[in-house]
Parts: sequence; C-alpha cells; structure tokens
Amino acid sequence: MALEPLPQDAVEISAMLGKKLPGCAFCGATSLVIGSSVNETPDFSKTSVYQTRVSCECGASLFYNARTRGEAQRECFSRWSQRATAKENCL
Ligand SMILES: [Zn+2]
Repeated sequence: MALEPLPQDAVEISAMLGKKLPGCAFCGATSLVIGSSVNETPDFSKTSVYQTRVSCECGASLFYNARTRGEAQRECFSRWSQRATAKENCL
C-alpha cells in the first residue's frame, strides 16, 4: 500500500505558522509546507511507517521515515535545520 496523507497536526501547523524552521537552504524562502503521511502496510515492515516531509516552493524537500509520527517530525525538522545551517556555513 502507498503512503496516505494525514491531516496536519498541531506540531506541523505550529511549525508552519510560527516559521520555526530555518529558511530553505537553496532559495531562502521561509514559507515551507510541512506534512506527514502513513504507510500502514509497508512491504518491508510489520508495523506502520510514518513519513514527515518539509518542502519548499522551489522544489527542495526533505523527508524522514520513522515508526511514530513524533519521531518522523523531530528527525525531519532536525535534518532540515542542519542542512540550512550547513549551507550557511559554506557561503
Ligand atoms: Zn527553496
């Protein structure tokens, strides 16, 4: 079965509205779209897999898969932030 989109939860809405994440590492935009999906019957696992994705209007995006939505959100946000910081340090 494929990933099914989930309605945005409080964490995702708050991260989007509060612009809690650094801007896009590629274009600097701060109007990011954040959402999660779930695959309840993945081929490679007996338990559901959650995926959180951060995407930018320029086409840049980053996602993370985890067993819980909370972990997927935390890791996805953390990696997005690291990438933004790494790019700044390279300039
Ligand atoms: Zn961008």
